[in-house]
Amino acid sequence: MIVVKFGGTSMADAAAIRRAGEIVRSRLDRRPIVVVSAFAGVTNQLLHIGAQAVEGQLVPAMASVQALRDRHMTEARALLGDGPEATALVAELSSMIDELAALAEALSVLGHGTPRAMDKIAALGEQLSSLVAAAAFRQMGMAARHVDARDVMRTDDRFGKAEPQADEISDAARRVIAPMVRAGEVPVLGGFVGATAHRITTTLGRGGSDYSASLLGAALRVEAIEIWTDVDGMLTADPRVVRDARLITDIRFDEASELASFGAKVLHPSTIAPAVKLGIPVYVFNSRNPTGSGTRITFDAPRRAVTAIAGKKSVTVIKVRSARMLLQHGVLRHIFEVFERHRTSVDVVATSEVSVSVTIDDVSNLEALLNDLQPLGDVSVERNRGILALVGAGMSDDSQAMARALAALDGARVHMVSLSASGINLTLIVDGDQVDTGMQRLHAAFFGRQVAA
Ligand code: ADP
Ligand code: ASP
Ligand code: MG
Repeated sequence: MIVVKFGGTSMADAAAIRRAGEIVRSRLDRRPIVVVSAFAGVTNQLLHIGAQAVEGQLVPAMASVQALRDRHMTEARALLGDGPEATALVAELSSMIDELAALAEALSVLGHGTPRAMDKIAALGEQLSSLVAAAAFRQMGMAARHVDARDVMRTDDRFGKAEPQADEISDAARRVIAPMVRAGEVPVLGGFVGATAHRITTTLGRGGSDYSASLLGAALRVEAIEIWTDVDGMLTADPRVVRDARLITDIRFDEASELASFGAKVLHPSTIAPAVKLGIPVYVFNSRNPTGSGTRITFDAPRRAVTAIAGKKSVTVIKVRSARMLLQHGVLRHIFEVFERHRTSVDVVATSEVSVSVTIDDVSNLEALLNDLQPLGDVSVERNRGILALVGAGMSDDSQAMARALAALDGARVHMVSLSASGINLTLIVDGDQVDTGMQRLHAAFFGRQVAA
């Protein structure tokens, strides 16, 4: 068994879905389970519809609902024609979109949207796309069978970023999905979506379809997890920022995980953990270039000083300073307990005898966090910072890496530097607006310019 996941751009329209179908067909002998994202852009549109409805802007919200309806109907018809399968599919999609319209109306009356209501709306993208994909693959002659992700992906009730419950997912996957595969069917389910024990719809957080794929792969102990996207694999930097970023054909789990955490959007940061536990290789492939080598993520890729560079904007730095910290034990514990209490994860940490600086991404609990940190010292906040991360398993063998990185940044202000003890990443905190140029300069310094063939 393998898991084959198609991202939004690989599900953009009928032609893309057919390409995905051909990729699935080429893997039938490996008994694929398919996970799909919403059609490209749909999750953003859904969340926008929810926000507009809450603000009472029902007319534009309904216009967007109509646009979503038209798009799904058009692509469904293009894939299935107008036989009985098409009619049944169109009716099912239509009733789901009716439900969206009803939800938008309800939100506009209430003038208030709970995270739970927003998840119900956001989940629709994958619920629609997975029905379309399953029907399209059947039309292409495969024994595809739609699975409602809510029957398998059990989560807690942290709406918007729900925590998957691995044991329940394993049980459900073995009960629901494994028998289909054994019977020669190809299960197709939406990523990103889950449900609580009471079957209330949840989502795993933005970009979470990759995570769904790896959770399912781990649950079923598959041989490989394939992430199909719109670039040739994991690259040495974000190709939207660094035009000559290069393909990394082999990368280690820990490197891929760090890159994802520090901004390489090609993988959701949680994707690696379930796979690494069981040593399941993860591949990243381009659905527009299916014969490309892609990237293979495993334990045994070569150790390089710098494998790739990632970057992230909109990072917030929090500093806690206190003379009392001097030689006191337990201070760090108190500080980190505050972050734990407010469920805010910390990316980079730097300490001195009298101060602790940390960076966070998620500022949704910032006010409460700052309140609780106040008693521990003088607290200051710096917004609009960015992180640049150089990632390489062999970084600690290269005594020059840090000096080269700082030289490459050529005088740009560096607010914090942290080299992890495992020596796998060097993170530099810079001004947010310096992230792109910083990434370009670091890339040029460590990878040179690629000579056009
Ligand atoms: P999908 O819809 O397939 O999930 P995403 O947009 O989530 O696709 O992720 C793919 C995008 O990630 C690429 O188009 C690319 O712009 C971006 N990206 C950022 N960093 C990297 C990197 N190091 N390697 C490859 N892609 C990257
Ligand atoms: N559709 C979801 C999102 O846009 C999940 C995903 O594509 O991975 O965030
Ligand atoms: Mg993605």
